[in-house]
Amino acid sequence: MSAADDVIDEIQGSLMGEADDSDTTVSEQVDLPRMERAVREILAAVGEDPDREGLKDTPRRVAKMYAELFSGLHEDPRAHLQRVFTEQYDEVVLVRDISFNSMCEHHLMPFMGKAHIGYMPDGKVLGLSKLARVVEVVAHRPQVQERMTETIADLLESEANAKGVAVVIEATHTCMTVRGVRKPGSLCVTSAMKGLFRSHLSSRSEVMSLIYGSRR
Ligand SMILES: [Zn+2]
Repeated sequence: MSAADDVIDEIQGSLMGEADDSDTTVSEQVDLPRMERAVREILAAVGEDPDREGLKDTPRRVAKMYAELFSGLHEDPRAHLQRVFTEQYDEVVLVRDISFNSMCEHHLMPFMGKAHIGYMPDGKVLGLSKLARVVEVVAHRPQVQERMTETIADLLESEANAKGVAVVIEATHTCMTVRGVRKPGSLCVTSAMKGLFRSHLSSRSEVMSLIYGSRR
């Protein structure tokens, strides 16, 4: 099976809805009634009436939402990096603009943006969709952007046997735009460089120009 077949496989899989997203799995992994009680408590604590009509189903909805947003806690991202293809390709592979949503662990508010992942293969290449899968799993956890960036780079370095890994993440944090300092439009950029991209300035410049090159 070629890398392209693998991508098609993945797309079909996600269109048909893969089994591990089902409600049954979610309720086994997280305590939904406990979350519902907690949300009810928050509503009461801010001075709302949790029993008024509009709020009656809110605890249930919010509990299910958190189960979805934190589903990555119950998934091992390495599972997506097990299948590699032998390919004599020794230039940079880059997937740019992988959009994601995550949750800032300091405020439990969303941050969202784009991840760019580049790696230098060493005789083995990954299915391209797998990089997006890894971002999904890591993003669906309580996060800080810096750790998310490092985690993705470490995973690729250790699992894909790459000669170099570069991860750049650009994100907007709602905890900065709608509360606190309220700076809409601010963008937080983090990067992690491993292997060749760390040790060789020319390799790092190459991957950075592929990420930023033709669009700014
Ligand atoms: Zn925050």
